[in-house]
Amino acid sequence: MSDVVLVLDAGSSSVKFGVFTVPASRDVELARLVHGRIEGIGVAPRFFAVAAGGERLAQHELANAVAHVDHQAALSHALEWLVPHLSGHRLAAVGHRIVHGGSLFAEPVRVTASVLSQLEALVPLAPLHQPHGIAGIRALAERLPDVPQIACFDTAFHRTQPAVAQLFGLPRELSGEGIRRYGFHGLSYQHIASQLPMYLGAHSDGRVIVAHLGNGASLCALRGRRSVASTMGFTALDGLLMGTRCGSLDPGVVLYLIDAKRMTTAQVAELLYERSGLLGVSGVSSDLRVLLASDKPAAARAIDLFVYRIVRELGSLVAALGGLDALVLTAGIGENSAIIRRRVCNEIGWLGLRLDPAANEANGPRISTADSPVSAWVIATNEELVIAHSVLDELSRQRTCMRSE
Ligand code: AMP
Repeated sequence: MSDVVLVLDAGSSSVKFGVFTVPASRDVELARLVHGRIEGIGVAPRFFAVAAGGERLAQHELANAVAHVDHQAALSHALEWLVPHLSGHRLAAVGHRIVHGGSLFAEPVRVTASVLSQLEALVPLAPLHQPHGIAGIRALAERLPDVPQIACFDTAFHRTQPAVAQLFGLPRELSGEGIRRYGFHGLSYQHIASQLPMYLGAHSDGRVIVAHLGNGASLCALRGRRSVASTMGFTALDGLLMGTRCGSLDPGVVLYLIDAKRMTTAQVAELLYERSGLLGVSGVSSDLRVLLASDKPAAARAIDLFVYRIVRELGSLVAALGGLDALVLTAGIGENSAIIRRRVCNEIGWLGLRLDPAANEANGPRISTADSPVSAWVIATNEELVIAHSVLDELSRQRTCMRSE
């Protein structure tokens, strides 16, 4: 019987899962046995599962199987499907993507009752995401109480940033309470950082900016493959324009919405997290593909703002790094949209980046010309793999501790 680890990534309206076989030696790459997702939670939930070879194992609507489908119910359904499909394997541990680790967690951690209450205390910092990660932990604990669970954080990778990059210009007692810049998408940046030597060779430890451009979007400045600055701050609202999130906003706008427009905090939160960004500016969709296909002027304006905000924020990270050696684009838009990559790279031509149009159309991996002083790359992100590796590290740490006791 071989050991497997399960990776769960609970987002705002979807839950992704992947099962990896635990290799006999650390030199062997992790192999994914099965993966799947439940999407459309709260609207029209659907379940998919796919085997390693690409064969579809399941595809069905969930509403017929479960009366009220919230995250907990969706997760329970996924587990009910998974457990019999894992026969012949032992589930050694589960890894969870948890959006916010606050200042407490700079590394993955084994979930205990006290860790769980610390994660709950961080819910106000990521109201759209944190509760779903916690629901995943609870669903697992209910069904498989003896299986160790490991929480892996989107904030942890950024804990290497210098103190000045983490500070807001607020009174120091508020910074002391934890009101500071945390940064997110850290599991994605960790994966890209691990891949850089393969693509950039000796330059991988130089000044690199990674653009994670998906439905959520942010930039991260790396030096020595460690985070030194990022565009997201206290919450995942800050920085770039996103699918439905506003990105950087003068805080005076929030005061105005509350004072002059008499909006409640819940209404402001819903506006900034769910009705702004590409969706709010275009009035058409949060999905870039839909906007690119639209002939509405407001759709074009939303794309213009998306690109403009990337270019503006990129300039500020170049300043934080003192120059730029390489730009990496990743996630749904970064990996797939040649148009957005072309527009961003052309706008920063002044930095010395020369785009290779044919390589860009072919999705890279190198999309800058051979003689470009700044190189540009398309590298696929893989947060699931980072979590699976962290789970294995944690399991072997525990085995070492038990042996030395
Ligand atoms: P993610 O959150 O990483 O899954 O990325 C979702 C975003 O990627 C959505 O805005 C999609 O429209 C966008 N996307 C995915 N594929 C493409 C594509 N081929 N061209 C343009 N945008 C894409």
